[in-house]
Amino acid sequence: QLTLPPAEIEKALDEAYNKFKDLKEGKNADYIKELANVDPNIFGIALITIDGKVYTKGDINSMVSIQSVSKVFTMAKVIEEQGAKAIEDKIGVDATGMRFNSIVAIEMQKGKEINPLVNPGAIAASSMISGADSAAKWKSILQVQSDFAGRPLSLNWPVYVSEAGDNLRNQAIAHLLLAYGRMYFDPVQSTDIYTKQCAINVNAKDLATMAATLANGGVNPITKKKVVSAETVMHTLPVMSTAGLYDNTGIWLYHTGLPAKSGVGGGLLAVCPGKFGIAVVSPPLDEAGNSVKAQRVISYVVDKLKVNPYLVQ
Ligand code: GLU
Repeated sequence: QLTLPPAEIEKALDEAYNKFKDLKEGKNADYIKELANVDPNIFGIALITIDGKVYTKGDINSMVSIQSVSKVFTMAKVIEEQGAKAIEDKIGVDATGMRFNSIVAIEMQKGKEINPLVNPGAIAASSMISGADSAAKWKSILQVQSDFAGRPLSLNWPVYVSEAGDNLRNQAIAHLLLAYGRMYFDPVQSTDIYTKQCAINVNAKDLATMAATLANGGVNPITKKKVVSAETVMHTLPVMSTAGLYDNTGIWLYHTGLPAKSGVGGGLLAVCPGKFGIAVVSPPLDEAGNSVKAQRVISYVVDKLKVNPYLVQ
């Protein structure tokens, strides 16, 4: 039973917005050229409860590319299709402890334990999505991301083209995994599907709906569609808790207790199981690659609403 009074939620979002709106720390990702051109002032917050109530603040219409946040939903789809064991055995679920696009992480483990929420494991997860060919796999990925968001999402072509023309490192990752027998479809095409998946356009409300669907055991609280099973969510959230915020995942969990996922486009979503999903879009990132404002806002709201699941009073 959801016991959070709407007025308290509104107040927490208002306060967080006003407190952090003028914060100027961080900078846009620029290793993908197109991301450097995104307006750094976009700042939107959305919180959606499991009974489908939507709370928003700021700019919830501007779109950014979903980037790494997409990895959560592709992983969930693979778990849904092939079971939790398939991800565990064919990819691995422990955090690598290395940068998100680390080649050393693959090499050290000989392709084992590459984690579906960082690039090597995520490209492997995209390669595991069922579908007769690359087009079918991409269609299935776009569909599941859209089902989580509760509306048809589409590709940000400039971001896709920019990254696809410059992703030799991800291509290298896919080929190295193939060499270790840990790539489950053509490496060039898998990297292309993955690059497309990262370039899907979303706003803060889309991300919050995706998070709320996880918070609600796999049923989208707006459309009521059952997107994945509760068991799939049960296996998805722990990977977010241990690997959702790059090298700062530990400190994030230490402060909020919530499974979350960030992307270099500036989106960050967090899941409060059985209560709500929350998301913030703000492109400037810190050194670890996480949106500065998004981390501050969500931490503030979690504190105010006293929803850290480790807080037992
Ligand atoms: N498409 C990005 C990459 O592969 C995703 C990175 C991220 O958001 O962590 O580099």
